[in-house]
Amino acid sequence: MQKKLFKAESKKLLDLMIHSIYTHREIFLRELISNASDAIDKRYYAAMQRGETGVDKSQFVIRLEPNREARTLTITDNGCGMSAAELEQDLGTIAKSGTSAFKAEHADAEDIDIIGKFGVGFYAAFMVSKNVTVYSHKEGEDAAQWSSDGVDGYTVKPCEYEPIGTKIVLSLKDDTDEDSYGEFLETFRLEQLVKKYSDYIRYPIVMQVETSRKKADSDEYETVVEDKTLNSQVPLWRKNKNEITKEQYAQFYRDAFHDYEEPASTLHINTEGMLSYTALLFIPKKAPFDFNTKDYKRGLKLYANGVMIMEHCEELLPEYFNFVQGLVDSPDLSLNISREMLQHDRQLSAIANNLKKKILSELLRMQREERENYETFYRAFGRTLKFGVYDQFGMNKDFLKDTLLFYSRKEDKLVTLKEYVDAMPEAQKEIYYAAGDTLAQVKKLPQAERVADKGFDILCLTDDVDEFALRILESYQDKKFRSVSDPDLDLNTEEEKKQMEEKAEQAKPLLERIKNALGDKVLDVRLTDRLKNAAACLTGDEGMSVEMYKVLRQLPNGQTLPMTFHLDLNPDHPVYAKLADLDDETLKTYAELLLAQAQLIAGLPLDDPAAFAESLCKLM
Ligand code: ADP
Repeated sequence: MQKKLFKAESKKLLDLMIHSIYTHREIFLRELISNASDAIDKRYYAAMQRGETGVDKSQFVIRLEPNREARTLTITDNGCGMSAAELEQDLGTIAKSGTSAFKAEHADAEDIDIIGKFGVGFYAAFMVSKNVTVYSHKEGEDAAQWSSDGVDGYTVKPCEYEPIGTKIVLSLKDDTDEDSYGEFLETFRLEQLVKKYSDYIRYPIVMQVETSRKKADSDEYETVVEDKTLNSQVPLWRKNKNEITKEQYAQFYRDAFHDYEEPASTLHINTEGMLSYTALLFIPKKAPFDFNTKDYKRGLKLYANGVMIMEHCEELLPEYFNFVQGLVDSPDLSLNISREMLQHDRQLSAIANNLKKKILSELLRMQREERENYETFYRAFGRTLKFGVYDQFGMNKDFLKDTLLFYSRKEDKLVTLKEYVDAMPEAQKEIYYAAGDTLAQVKKLPQAERVADKGFDILCLTDDVDEFALRILESYQDKKFRSVSDPDLDLNTEEEKKQMEEKAEQAKPLLERIKNALGDKVLDVRLTDRLKNAAACLTGDEGMSVEMYKVLRQLPNGQTLPMTFHLDLNPDHPVYAKLADLDDETLKTYAELLLAQAQLIAGLPLDDPAAFAESLCKLM
């Protein structure tokens, strides 16, 4: 018997697969089961075509048989089977249309990951096997056997195999210190894999399992071996929507996405026409523990006609909706990696585009109709939405802006931008916000007092991304966002403005003395009309608030950012009235104390806390 060599292309794919990383290996079972299911489909349809209307669908079965002694795993189907020539042709080479395309795109080692994502068919068996033997019997043909160690070649020869169909025997690789293949002989592990990847295969996947059962007429238990069907065959999402209870959805969500709570919302979408797909999406209530780490994998599960082909398909969800869990099942997708990947991409992006609109309108519906539920969700994921507004230079800001909630100083609760604008008094032209580390701090921000006194509401921002998001948004319903710390805050009458200018003119020599006393600890010293009860505050430079500086400082390379600001003094404060009469040395102490308290109120660390304490004591 002559051994035939694999074609070069097949060899390359084989190498890639055999050395693919360990966690991807388990998909071999999915691939073989999927082939078996296809083969049964073929046999069934061929029979129908011949006019054999009486074919009993219930006879079809896919069987798994682990054998620990022999260290083999056998997968049997009663599908169409293959002739010797077909074994040669179908298993001897991966001579499918897209092989070259696959190679061109994924020849590099780093792309081995693709194997875990898309099907690579029969060859996946070599990820776990040192030898694979296929016995097959096609109707009207002699049975034949294909055998290979996956290294360089294969043999095909006649054999005795009675039933119509195919039996694939995998001789599993030996366990090593790093790798264990023995797990694929454990019935619980196989059951787990079937549930994970092939639950919805339309034919029963059967395996003999040991169960313990109570003996009849006795209290004793006995261990019996019986056939167990491992797959449920009908996926929840393929059932009729009005036949599914809320509890069933919730149960499915908890099982499939490992949450102990029910989701905040469930979306079941069926679309037919140009693009047919079913999507079952869940909006969680709480962020999973790894949500803000790089371990978190976003994306939806992707099924091609009930068979899972990808566990986290990122292409289906924009990053700003990365909290959404769920799956997409489409008959238009192919299991086969050898299909044009580009086509996948176009289809996927069309589906993704539909989904993101559905998700948005569901979020807005929740916001309108289930406010408490929405706020729970928003506490968990609002930051992600706000980041989505800011990200990519605000590309998605208009799409996302109505999902946002901010804390209202006046209402003492979360409000939407629309609610804020709708409640604005006639005289108010802009949307005011104040930023800080905590809500308590923001509410007490000295700069906010005068705005609040006018009867204007202020959005309190406490997330690092908040102010950046609003800056990118610029305005909402033509109302500009304005920081209460903005030096150009235009709250005063003409009369008040004139008075202020006069005061500033008079104060010039004093302000200069203070600036000299503080040196380069401040950019300069100015008067402000924005303060009411506080004596001083810090103001950022060039349109950036102190809060924004603080956030930027946290970023990589942010340490080089200078943290010097304008020191703005309140001319109506009693302390200010004292300053002019002080000698240079005392003025310096006062100036340093004013700067220090402004820094403290802004949530900044003091340059020299010991000196601050000393000066304070001296005064006291
Ligand atoms: P794909 O299934 O993606 O076409 P595979 O490498 O998995 O690629 O299989 C190659 C071909 O071998 C299949 O298209 C099918 O014709 C045949 N084949 C594989 N497994 C079976 C099986 N269990 N029964 C019948 N034919 C099979």
